[in-house]
Amino acid sequence: MAVTRTRVADDTWVFTSELYAEVNAGLVISPEGGILIDTLPFPSETAQIIQFAKRVCPAGIKYVINTISHADHVYGSCFFPEAELIAQEKAREFLIKYGRKALDEAREYTPELFKVEIRLPKLVFNEGMLIRLGGKTVHAMHAPGPSPDVCVVHVREEKVLFASDLIMPVPYIATPFSDIEVYKRSLAKLHDLNLEAIVQGHGDILLRGEVSSSIDESIQYLNDIQALVERLVKEGATKHDLLQYDIEQFGRSRIPLGGLVRNFHKANLLHLWNQAKARHRQGSQGAPSPHRKQGQQAEELESTATR
Ligand SMILES: [Zn+2]
Repeated sequence: MAVTRTRVADDTWVFTSELYAEVNAGLVISPEGGILIDTLPFPSETAQIIQFAKRVCPAGIKYVINTISHADHVYGSCFFPEAELIAQEKAREFLIKYGRKALDEAREYTPELFKVEIRLPKLVFNEGMLIRLGGKTVHAMHAPGPSPDVCVVHVREEKVLFASDLIMPVPYIATPFSDIEVYKRSLAKLHDLNLEAIVQGHGDILLRGEVSSSIDESIQYLNDIQALVERLVKEGATKHDLLQYDIEQFGRSRIPLGGLVRNFHKANLLHLWNQAKARHRQGSQGAPSPHRKQGQQAEELESTATR
């Protein structure tokens, strides 16, 4: 299957997987070499990036950035042995903790992955890192929320942001390490950047007119599902009641990512529901401290348990 290639600015290209949830990777080209942002999951797809890069970027790829530790973003990293691999420090930690085991499991279903090796980033950063190469300034910035290890990558001269899984056709929070409040703060910060385009972690590229509204709509969506779950839990509703609230009722299309967005939305609702129920149980056991809001204690317990 052919990877879809899109030119998003003069020297910036996007590669979209046909095989896995329309995950995106990007290439910034300069006379001194290329910077690759994520790698696509399957060797046959990464090979298409390599072929293209040989043609348009004769100086070779100098840096590869992993924007999150997930398989679909990082598995191609091992095919660029000459390039320095960069990630947020938490991504390196997650790759060490979970990478090998997840790869072994994935190989059971996809033999092509026997060609893949987990590669650990040698250059790690906490808040951010600036790469200057051949007249390009590429700023990787920590942007936690969907997962603590996410970074977004701003290509300043081209005004393009590779937003990783921070921006998706529907925000996805149904993972053990997500944090919805942190997520909203990371989204709000994107308004400070001067952008012509956002490359989402998965799905379509957002162009100038959609940039600002898509950031706001993501924040709005997270606020709305939080408010819904809070209200329904208070009213004593059931999970069945909860799942009647389709994604379209939040002003979002059901079509992107081959309809996968509907599953993401459902999983989000159930994730928040389970969290709210856990807080409730916690609240009903013993009197809460008068100095704190009821939910806060449970939230703190929960976050230490998942660390
Ligand atoms: Zn992803």
